[in-house]
Amino acid sequence: CGIVGIVGNQNAKEILLTGLEKLEYRGYDSAGIFVSESENEGQLIKAVGRIANLREKVSADVNGTAGIGHTRWATHGVPSETNAHPHTSSNERFVLVHNGVIENYEEIKTDYLAGVNLIGETDTEVAIQLINVLAEKENLSAKEAFKKALTIIKGSYAFAMMESNQPEVIYVAKNKSPLLIGLGDSFNVVCSDAMAMITETKEFVEIMDGELVIVEADKITIENQAGETINRDSYEAKIDV
Ligand code: GLU
Repeated sequence: CGIVGIVGNQNAKEILLTGLEKLEYRGYDSAGIFVSESENEGQLIKAVGRIANLREKVSADVNGTAGIGHTRWATHGVPSETNAHPHTSSNERFVLVHNGVIENYEEIKTDYLAGVNLIGETDTEVAIQLINVLAEKENLSAKEAFKKALTIIKGSYAFAMMESNQPEVIYVAKNKSPLLIGLGDSFNVVCSDAMAMITETKEFVEIMDGELVIVEADKITIENQAGETINRDSYEAKIDV
């Protein structure tokens, strides 16, 4: 239902939680965040119900300058902590949040995920396991595996993915679901609605269906399907806060 993300130099968990609170009006059944920092492995916290429940579970020792967060409106699988996002691959290398519906998740399971142990019922978990299987099988980088998975996945999605030991980068793509990049001063953010990040920045960049965006603290790189870099001007969001 709602996505937030940040890479930069600040206290990521507070910005993620506040961003999710600003998306509460859209409705959701559960929520979660993944927060990561160079020396740490990254921490994943999820809760059913209100963002306040999630906030309560996020202890003071959760620290990091990057992360992704999600409010879920269940389409595949009951509302539960297991089915809440972010989802991880079995080896915990990749972490993913997703809005939308993956139409061909049953086919992906059959064609690519034989022998992979799925712990929940979501279409999203299938997507992150697919990315991991592609990365392992062909020894691909996170970006290459993500890009390849996007050629296989059908349906509607806004994706924000991280590699758990690499807190400098968020990989982003969308198809028929909203997703924006927000530009900050030595940080950048990702959100499904400018409202979520309007107190962090007013400068946003649109993403088009089929593009892959690499979000880092000091730059964003937009690539089209042919792998060409796209330059796109930012715009100023006009939202009263
Ligand atoms: N289809 C996904 C799920 O059920 C994402 C739902 C959403 O957009 O919140 O977990």
